[in-house]
Amino acid sequence: MKTESHQPDTLLIAGPCSAETEQQVLATAKAIQKYFPSAVYRAGIWKPRTRPNAFEGIGEEGLPWLQKVKAETGMLIATEVANAHHVEACLKHGIDILWIGARTTVNPFSVQEIASALKGCDIPVMIKNPVNAELALWLGAIERIELAGIKNIKAIHRGSHSSEKMAFRNDPCWELAIELKMRMPQLPIICDPSHICGSRELIPYIAQRALDLGMDGLMIESHIAPSKAWSDAQQQLVPDELYEVMLNLEVKRVQGKDSVKGLELEKLRIAINKTDGELLQLLFQRMDIAEKIGTYKKRNKMTILQISRWKELLDSRLEIGTAMGLNKPFVKKLYDLIHEESIRKQAEVIHVEEQIV
Ligand code: PEP
Ligand code: MN
Repeated sequence: MKTESHQPDTLLIAGPCSAETEQQVLATAKAIQKYFPSAVYRAGIWKPRTRPNAFEGIGEEGLPWLQKVKAETGMLIATEVANAHHVEACLKHGIDILWIGARTTVNPFSVQEIASALKGCDIPVMIKNPVNAELALWLGAIERIELAGIKNIKAIHRGSHSSEKMAFRNDPCWELAIELKMRMPQLPIICDPSHICGSRELIPYIAQRALDLGMDGLMIESHIAPSKAWSDAQQQLVPDELYEVMLNLEVKRVQGKDSVKGLELEKLRIAINKTDGELLQLLFQRMDIAEKIGTYKKRNKMTILQISRWKELLDSRLEIGTAMGLNKPFVKKLYDLIHEESIRKQAEVIHVEEQIV
């Protein structure tokens, strides 16, 4: 991807997690505008923080700073709203685009309050998926905004909370975005790699995956001095880094992107990728156990290759595998490979030359 300005299909929404000071808002905007003159500028004015005593946003005082960004750079300005008061303040200050955050989408009362405050306006609204990966809540929020008469609606995919330990802040749960696209094929979906990743290093990977899936844009947090940011310091990029990331993204034409058939294939590919990840994780665990067995054998002066155990193991795996419907020669080949690697691992532990086994 050269720059966003050369890619009319891919919308870029960039800017800091939070508006902190007028100087930070303007300096960040100017640095972003230099590379991406038609980007939408984002900055959170009211910040829904999970725990108390964190920076909860500068509030209404920051709205004129965004107006100034618009006047000085020409970029459209966007911010998050979580209640009717926020909507009114944004409308009063000429904010161009509103978005509903993940912690608000989760609550139909709040979404309805926002929808009612929007009645009769034609401001574009973007709706993030709820913190939990529940499609119905996301759909419900979109429908409420549609029913309020808003024509220009986009969804933002920002991953979902997971209690599992993983490299990402949020589970990317691509299935959720694909399901939404299948239900509402005309609705543009923007990916928010910043909140999925939680750390800036992973952003290029997730941004590329989003484009590979045919998503319609990216929302990426960018701050003039990320290490000093008042919120989400780990996941923001300086505008120069943002430019690098965007430059290295490859925009692929996703075959059949807009057809339900094409999406079905994407969904199956995601399922395959997930299963392969689990398969590799299990193989890793199996080799870890083999290593422990190697240590035991070393301590007890046992030989690595125990023919009777191997025969018994292979027979039982062939039986289980074929009962499941797997092809017997395939299971045999697979276990020969696994066994060979287990023996190599154990040999490594015992410091025996590989060719002996
Ligand atoms: C944000 O965009 O800064 C934000 C609070 O995101 P989310 O609603 O996805 O957590
Ligand atoms: Mn943020």
